[in-house]
Amino acid sequence: MPETLDSPYGTGFVDLHAHTNESDGSLTPAELVALAKNSDLAALAVTDHDTFSGYEKALPQAKAAGLPLVRGIELNTRLYVNGGRSHRSVHLLAYFLHGEPSHQFTDWLNEEREHRRLRNRLLAEALQARGMHVTVEEAEARGRVLTGRPHFARVLIEKGYAASFEDAFRRFLGEDAPTYVQRKSKTTDEVIAIVRHAGGIPVIAHPVRLGLQRDAERDLLLRFKQAGLVGLEIYHSEHTPELQAHYRQLAAELDLLPTGGSDFHGNIKPGVRLGTGADGNVRVPASFLDRMWAFTNNG
Ligand SMILES: [Zn+2]
Ligand SMILES: [Zn+2]
Repeated sequence: MPETLDSPYGTGFVDLHAHTNESDGSLTPAELVALAKNSDLAALAVTDHDTFSGYEKALPQAKAAGLPLVRGIELNTRLYVNGGRSHRSVHLLAYFLHGEPSHQFTDWLNEEREHRRLRNRLLAEALQARGMHVTVEEAEARGRVLTGRPHFARVLIEKGYAASFEDAFRRFLGEDAPTYVQRKSKTTDEVIAIVRHAGGIPVIAHPVRLGLQRDAERDLLLRFKQAGLVGLEIYHSEHTPELQAHYRQLAAELDLLPTGGSDFHGNIKPGVRLGTGADGNVRVPASFLDRMWAFTNNG
């Protein structure tokens, strides 16, 4: 991969995975920018779930503060396992370092949000049909853009219909519950291709959560690479130093770009700090971002 000399990100450390209250973080976009600036970060990527609105709201503050801001997003994708008999959720980060994503991409995002809303409406109806007073509006008041089953769980607990999160998922929200409603969702391979087509850099977020044995993990990442995957999140608050070393080596072997970030959510995840993660286990050199920048500049 050719190196580009005039990268805009310079030296120091960056954080390429952070959420604002436009998805499920607690800080406003402006507060997140101020914190990044106080933390001496050389650049920050805003990677809210399913929306660019946090990034867009943060831009004016970032410009005023002289902080390079990266347009990012975290997307929920579906991975079929056991020969297609079941599936799990895989988080894919996408970064747009050169210009805005295509209209097709933003149209697709709007559709995804529409599917989520439809699922939420059907879920509320299913709960109401069983005599529970739970509305979409009540869940949305807790979840905003990203309203999903965890927010329904909170409403169910607050109203005394469920004793705990586990109880709410087991009896009402989980895949085996009678009121479960499946959301239409694209596969990881499909979303990787969609991101590439839109000019973005697709990256597998927190690969530790794939929960796979080493061989299966390697095979799956190879398959994703063939679908167009570009990067692997090496640094993450949930990665121990041993896991960081493992993923760094795996990325090198598979010719994937190393990336990293804290997955900062403000006081929703109190143990995780912007730029440094949990107990300082995240420290992402600006050179990682330089390589991503060079990739889209030349690729
Ligand atoms: Zn995630
Ligand atoms: Zn995240």
